[in-house]
Amino acid sequence: MYRIGQGIDFHRLEEGRALWLGGIRIPHSKGCVAHSDGDVLLHAICDALLGAVALGDIGQHFPDTDDRYKNADSKILLQRCYSMVREKGYWLVNVDSTLLLQAPKIRPYVAQMQAVIARAVHMSAEDISIKATTAEQLGFIGREEGVVATANVLLQKY
Ligand code: MG
Repeated sequence: MYRIGQGIDFHRLEEGRALWLGGIRIPHSKGCVAHSDGDVLLHAICDALLGAVALGDIGQHFPDTDDRYKNADSKILLQRCYSMVREKGYWLVNVDSTLLLQAPKIRPYVAQMQAVIARAVHMSAEDISIKATTAEQLGFIGREEGVVATANVLLQKY
């Protein structure tokens, strides 16, 4: 028995903040404005995992009004979400995700992100797909005002 889930997340970008994407810190002049570390990619994967087992969303489980999650490492949130999936009796089969941002170029960091995410969910890096696209200078993504991530996951009952 299989279940699929999808997740999407948006964060505003601001000068002088740390940019965390896919569990790693990327050198850049801007970073995400957030209560946690603002890792949109990990948040989208968390929502996809929760969605696949109909457990709501990360805002529900880790509210941004809760000081415990201030500057939270999103890898911990990802591990917590995957624990909830496992408690429901499911394994993760694969993740496919896309980052939408104008800058910086993501390709040089993809292998490291795959490794970090794979380690957090006890998978192999080849089961974690991370794609990236710019928005061709269009809209808030193109103006580098924000970044978006989407993720799909497949789960299998064990
Ligand atoms: Mg978020």
